[in-house]
Amino acid sequence: MRLKDKVALITGAGSGIGRETALLFAQEGAQVVACDLNETSGKAVVEAIEQSGGQAAFVKADVSKTADIKGAIDFAEATYGKLNVLFNNAGIFHANDGSVLETEEDIWELTINVNLKSVFLGCKYGIPALLRSGGGSIINTASFVAIVGAATPQIAYTASKGGVLAMTREIAVEFARQNIRANALCPGPVQTPLLDELLADPARRQRRLVHIPPGRFAQAPEIANAALFLASDESSFVNGSTFLVDGGITAAYVTPE
Ligand code: NAD
Repeated sequence: MRLKDKVALITGAGSGIGRETALLFAQEGAQVVACDLNETSGKAVVEAIEQSGGQAAFVKADVSKTADIKGAIDFAEATYGKLNVLFNNAGIFHANDGSVLETEEDIWELTINVNLKSVFLGCKYGIPALLRSGGGSIINTASFVAIVGAATPQIAYTASKGGVLAMTREIAVEFARQNIRANALCPGPVQTPLLDELLADPARRQRRLVHIPPGRFAQAPEIANAALFLASDESSFVNGSTFLVDGGITAAYVTPE
């Protein structure tokens, strides 16, 4: 078991990448704190873990709210006695997030708060807990759009993920000598409810698909496997990385027909 005796807090654990990671972490022996704004889906993942013999507990939190994040970290320590792995994964894509010319300020603020401020808050209140347990692994979900620009714009989302990437590097450097590693997980497009919303328009969907060398979207378990590696001691010298799991999108100039 690759996460035996570890306590892992996962935000956005009710769906997509977070859900698959929660299931996998529990299977690998972690005690999982599943955090989500959506109580129904968050509790459902805990139930699924318990049914397969794993250990998990749900905590409801809006990751963009200080009190909620503090509460989630406190809950993890109160429930399982410590925190070893912090997966800041929750994120949104808003349907009205588009070109810089058209995107309204309220969409910008919402996206930055949920996608970027949340990671700041998660680290601000999670790092002291990691230090109390002797160190640990932070995984922040950025995206391949933190590396390359798209002609199908999503300006607030892209900016938020660029911020996550830069912030992760700085945290990785600052806390490395205190036995904390921080890495930015950068998925390519993954077949999840978030992607379905982002690419609801079939033309936009096809346009994105064309640029992926394998010619398909990732499945959430493929991203969860990368998160498992970053969470486990197998990645003990991986720190501050831009950990791309993008099927080669950022390596491609032209993709095969
Ligand atoms: P998803 O929509 O399937 O799941 C996101 C989860 O986050 C949901 O359970 C939702 O309830 C929760 N959530 C949303 N707002 C929240 C808030 N304020 N507080 C707490 N929880 C909240 O999405 P996903 O595709 O699994 O995405 C997970 C992460 O991966 C996000 O950060 C996303 O930006 C990133 N990502 C996704 C893709 C993709 O193609 N799906 C690609 C690159 C990066």
